[in-house]
Amino acid sequence: MLIDVNDIPREGLDFDQDFDFVSLDLVEEEAAFLEPVHSIVSVKKIGSEVLIKGKLNTRMSFICSRCLRPFEYGVNVVFDLAYLPEELDEQKEELDEEDLGRFFYYHQQLDLREIILEQLNLSIPLRPLCSEDCEGLCPICGQLVQNGQCRCQVNSSDPRLEKLKSFLRDKR
Ligand SMILES: [Zn+2]
Ligand SMILES: [Zn+2]
Repeated sequence: MLIDVNDIPREGLDFDQDFDFVSLDLVEEEAAFLEPVHSIVSVKKIGSEVLIKGKLNTRMSFICSRCLRPFEYGVNVVFDLAYLPEELDEQKEELDEEDLGRFFYYHQQLDLREIILEQLNLSIPLRPLCSEDCEGLCPICGQLVQNGQCRCQVNSSDPRLEKLKSFLRDKR
C-alpha cells in the first residue's frame, strides 16, 4: 500500500485497516496468523519529514521453543516513527546521532504494508515461550515434563525436588 509523500494533505492521513500476511513474511516462519492484523495509523508530514504513528493488534500462534507446543499470543504493537527523504540517507555521516535511529523513504513513497510488517517482525519474541516457567521436554523420554506426563526418575540431590517427588508418589 503505497503512500505518495507529495499527496499527504496538511491535516495528515488516517488509516484504520486490516492487513493479511502469511508466515513467510515473518522472520519467525513457524509463527502463524490466527486473524488479520488490525492497524490504526496516522501519517503526518512536517517539512520533508514524515511521522507515522500507530497501533497494531492481532493474534498469532507460535511454537514454544522449550516444549515445542503451539500456543496463542496476542500481539499489540505501538509505534512512533520518523521517516526522512532519501537525500539525507546519502549524507548520513553528517547527521547527528539522534538522527541515525530514523528511517528513510525513497522516491517520495512509503509502503505502509512494509512498515507494518517491519514493526510486527520487530515485536516477535526471539525465543517464544508458552509460559515463563515452561519446563519443556524431558531429555530422556521426550514427553512434557509439566503435568506429570514424564515419569522418568531424574537423579537429583535437590531436597525440594525430592520432597515434591515423594509428595507426587504418595498421591498416586
Ligand atoms: Zn512451552
Ligand atoms: Zn521423561
